[in-house]
Amino acid sequence: MTTQAEPFPASVREWVPDTRTMLIGGRMVDGDGEVWDVLNPATEAVIATVTGASAGQVDAAVEAAREAFPGWAALSGQERARHIHRFADVLEAAADRLLPSIVNEVGTPVSLAEYLQVKMAVQEHLRWAADAAATDRTVHLGSYDKPVPTMSDVVYEPVGVVAAITGYNYPLNLAIFKFGAALAAGCTVVLLPSPRTPLTTLLLGQLILDAGLPPGVMNVVIGGADVGQQLSSHRAVDRVSFTGSDGVGARIMAQAAANLTGVTLELGGKSPNIVMPDVDVRQVAVEMHLRWSRNAGQGCAALARLLVHEERYEEFLEAGRSAFDQMVVGDPWDRATNIGPMIRPDHKARVLGFIDDSLAAGGRKLLEVSKPLPERGWFVNPVLLGGLDHSARACQEEIFGPIAVLVPFRDTDDAIRLANDTAYGLAANVWCADPVEARRVAERIRAGTVWINGGGAMRPDAPFGGYGRSGVGRELGEWGMREYLEVKHIQWRV
Ligand code: NAD
Repeated sequence: MTTQAEPFPASVREWVPDTRTMLIGGRMVDGDGEVWDVLNPATEAVIATVTGASAGQVDAAVEAAREAFPGWAALSGQERARHIHRFADVLEAAADRLLPSIVNEVGTPVSLAEYLQVKMAVQEHLRWAADAAATDRTVHLGSYDKPVPTMSDVVYEPVGVVAAITGYNYPLNLAIFKFGAALAAGCTVVLLPSPRTPLTTLLLGQLILDAGLPPGVMNVVIGGADVGQQLSSHRAVDRVSFTGSDGVGARIMAQAAANLTGVTLELGGKSPNIVMPDVDVRQVAVEMHLRWSRNAGQGCAALARLLVHEERYEEFLEAGRSAFDQMVVGDPWDRATNIGPMIRPDHKARVLGFIDDSLAAGGRKLLEVSKPLPERGWFVNPVLLGGLDHSARACQEEIFGPIAVLVPFRDTDDAIRLANDTAYGLAANVWCADPVEARRVAERIRAGTVWINGGGAMRPDAPFGGYGRSGVGRELGEWGMREYLEVKHIQWRV
């Protein structure tokens, strides 16, 4: 692979965390369960061999969280806030280890990972959660006199032990979204990362110890679907918070149902990006393409369904060419790279299958990167597909790779109909010069987040989550906190 001036020494590029370090009840423990290799998707090399938790160790982790719960819940919000801020300090100081861990196990280009996957996760989201721990949420309802005079307060209390199960694409962010809010609420946590990317979470386990969190407040186990199944159907777990695919989300909901355990599910998407006819497409096309292809399209909110007004279609295609020229597929450690690999060869094959299916269904490649790919690594050259009916697989299913579809629309009603014509509803964007019309369109889209003219960064104080098959509940902000809080009405006679 060619690299420009080498900014990262080999000692950083090749660094991987210690892998014998699950954290159960404040102690580092070796796994007793399944053994598997962790692969670097950019090189195909085995970078670690890990041992997962046995069923007994999963029980021990839940038990440790149970035991720690009363003490953690009894701390004042300010005390929990101090603990979480100290944890954030430790994570910030460990950024030079978190970064290589993420780049090497996920394949995220360092140009993206440095801020989005490390700094933002800790400085914005974890710190916000720390501050939210100190919020007094008590609602004083005042008096009610039927049939006797009473007063009421509504108070919020932590739900208990949280099983937090994360997907592979943003290991640190997804974990922080869950444990930040859960710890702030007063819950204790058992964290299970994707078996494809366990290393960053194992490193978190070590950093939890360094931060001096009380033993058992946060536990880290690793394992496959069997461990996830055990956790989500565990009688001593009070809440399951999951980020991953809608298929696994449905299984988790069913597994948790046996105990009537509540679930928060952050699932996939098929998010539309609408270009209204009053937009200068030369201003937006490049940004649109560089955005949906971020993290090689492995983003739940990737705006990879491009709905463009038919009068702007040709101009949009032309304007997008330079974005494809700017896409650099390859070594994630090269700062010029903006497209990394697919996580595994089976995922690469699935992604390429969408191209084959689309061509067989009469679709066309409208734009593509056609430079040779690195010899090793599960890379896919980005492609923009067109000429498809909106019922085609590529328009309906989450691809989770660097493939987008372009679909023209006739008028606003047609744009809204297409935007809402999938089973998902995670995110959307509308480009529109008229702010009143933009707002009207935004309100008609069934999605948990709608950006106008590109929106902005993922705010720690705004809810994130989806309609339909994109999930149940919300993360982040006060809405994310509520997922980990029970509501209690206290009423007394006066
Ligand atoms: P996945 O569904 O394949 O797996 C995620 C986790 O589920 C892993 O930890 C796995 O071990 C566990 N698991 C598998 N079977 C289980 C079972 N029966 N019970 C309990 N746990 C089980 O997801 P992935 O491929 O790692 O992640 C990609 C998906 O995540 C995409 O669909 C993406 O859209 C979604 N995602 C959503 C958000 C969001 O916030 N909405 C964010 C990131 C990713």
